[in-house]
Formats: sequence, structure tokens, C-alpha cells
Amino acid sequence: MATSDRDRLSDRLFAAKSALVIAHIMPDADTLGAALGLGLSLRSLGMTVHLACADPVPTELRFLPSAQEVQPRLYAGEEIIVTVDISDQQRIGMLYDEKIFSTVPVLVIDHHITNTRFGALNWVAEVPATSEMILELLQAHNVTISLDAATCLLAGIIGDTQCFLTSNTSPSSLIAAAQLQELGAPLREIATTVLNRRPTSALAVWREAFINACQEPGIILTTLGSAFLRSVSADDSSTNGLSSWLAGLDGVLISAVLREADDGSVDVSMRSAPEINIAVVAQNLGGGGHPQAAGCVLAGPLSSASERLLAELRPLTARPAPVEELVH
Ligand code: 5GP
Ligand code: MN
Repeated sequence: MATSDRDRLSDRLFAAKSALVIAHIMPDADTLGAALGLGLSLRSLGMTVHLACADPVPTELRFLPSAQEVQPRLYAGEEIIVTVDISDQQRIGMLYDEKIFSTVPVLVIDHHITNTRFGALNWVAEVPATSEMILELLQAHNVTISLDAATCLLAGIIGDTQCFLTSNTSPSSLIAAAQLQELGAPLREIATTVLNRRPTSALAVWREAFINACQEPGIILTTLGSAFLRSVSADDSSTNGLSSWLAGLDGVLISAVLREADDGSVDVSMRSAPEINIAVVAQNLGGGGHPQAAGCVLAGPLSSASERLLAELRPLTARPAPVEELVH
């Protein structure tokens, strides 16, 4: 049988004595769940593991076991670098160093169709969550999964499937979740925390987003300025769930939340109805993601970023022109 990407990657992974495991910028439950689930499990095998992320762990995800270990730490001589849930180098943020990433073996484990395969070994699978891939990897290697690791992995699956509600939720996700629950992972506590818990700043941020929302046929778009975000001490995670909520409004096929950063760049979070693929749009604009959940970073100001985005989105929502009656 031909060796699969997973097996090639796992052979190198389990042969290492030390690893730096990196989660993506503005971390969510899946990247943290995958990093922690993998890191804790590798450590139980005797490997030295350091966990890194360029941005802080959001308050609502600090319940994840060992979350405090995830720090903006630089490469410190580990044998390999493992990136989880990261589709391209930009998502590593300030921890990316071209020289180090071209000399140390980089193992990429990810589930984004837009993944650029920037590692020496790349395993990219079409499953709803990277955490599900980590579970598969550990099971294939007969690694005993602790309650802490199971909790992290279940949080990742619940986060990316919005508790099994996204259109890509597969039987494999439900089976993985059931196995993790059997290991003791508290499904209800994880789901309510990951999906419902938000920083206090979310109230002011969502209010502003609703006020600024603009609609046109099939599209809803809203903007959040950096001066406003600073004035309410907004956390990065204050907009979590906002683009999904907007996409649920009647008649909306695509939602977009544009958030201006302090450096003037604009972070875009998009969601779409199942018949519309916004991963393509995000990729055309230098970002990436999934067909129904994608994002990118655009140049500011907010007004020109909005126009640039709308120019890409409008053709996707245009209804086909009525077919003219054939005259015989
Ligand atoms: P969210 O809207 O929840 O921040 O992100 C939705 C999806 O799009 C996630 O899978 C995330 O990894 C991806 N994504 C969001 N922003 C970016 C970006 O700037 N670049 C890339 N490559 N992917 C992004
Ligand atoms: Mn993910």
C-alpha cells in the first residue's frame, strides 16, 4: 500500500525527541485544541514539547487544560516544528522566521482546502476540524489519549463545526466526538463555553457592528473602526460568532465583518450559504479558509476594503438571468 501523507508525517513526528507546536494567529478552539491535544499526547510519550502562538489565548478558551502554556515563544532549537490548523505562513504571524522555517523540518497538519503546503511534510485533509485529524493520528499510532487531551480535541471539533451544525459536519466528526466524550471529555461544558462565552467587550462591539451593517441583495457587510475598537478595549475574540449570526438573517447568502487593525489593515471574516464558495474569494484576496467560512486581510481604509470586497462578492450572489422563451 502506498504511504500516505499522514503516515509520512507521522513517522517523522513520532521519531522526534522535541517539537515546537504552533497555533495560528487570533487563535480559535480548533487551532488551540489541536495544538494542546497533540502536544499533551506527545509529551506523554516522553517528547519535549513547547506550545506557541503569536497572539494571546482568548479569555473564554483559557479553560482548555494547559492553555497557559501557549505563549508567543520563538523557536528554541527543537528538532521539528509542527503547525496545526495553519493554511499559510501569514497565519503564523510574528513567530514566522524564513531562515528557521527553511532549515528546521516543518510538519503541516491542516484541514483548509486553501492550504499552500508550506512545510517539508504536509498532511491536508478535508475534514471539518484539524482536531479530528489529530485524534486520527494519535489513534493510528495507538497513543493513549488523556482526559485533558480529549477535552482539547473535543473543543476543537465543537468549535469548527459549531457543535455539529456546519454543512461539512460528517459522520466521522460525530464518531470522533463520541469517542472523546467516552474518554470523559465534558461535551456540554465545552460546547457552552466555546460557543456562548464571550468577552464583555462583545456587547459594545456587536452593537456597533449592527449599527454599521449595510445590506444589498444577498449580502450583509459591517465594519468596525480601529478607534472604536480601542475605545471599548475590544478583545480579538469579541467578534467571534458575529459573521455566522449575520449569515443566518433571512435572505442573506454572504456575510462579512470587516475589522480595522491598529496598523490600518482590515481583517475580514466571511460566511456563506452552502451554494456559495467564499474560500475562492478569500484566496483571490490573499487569504483562505473553507467554502462556507473564510477570511483575509485587506489594505485599509475600511471604505476601500469594503468596496474591494463587495466587487468580488456581488457576482457570486447575482441571480441567473431568466431564460428567454424560445420562439419556434
Ligand atoms: P473566522 O472568520 O472564523 O476568523 O475564520 C474563518 C476561516 O477562515 C478559518 O478557517 C480561518 O482559518 C480562515 N481565515 C480567516 N482569516 C484568514 C486570513 O486572513 N488568511 C487565511 N489564509 N485564512 C483566514
Ligand atoms: Mn480549523
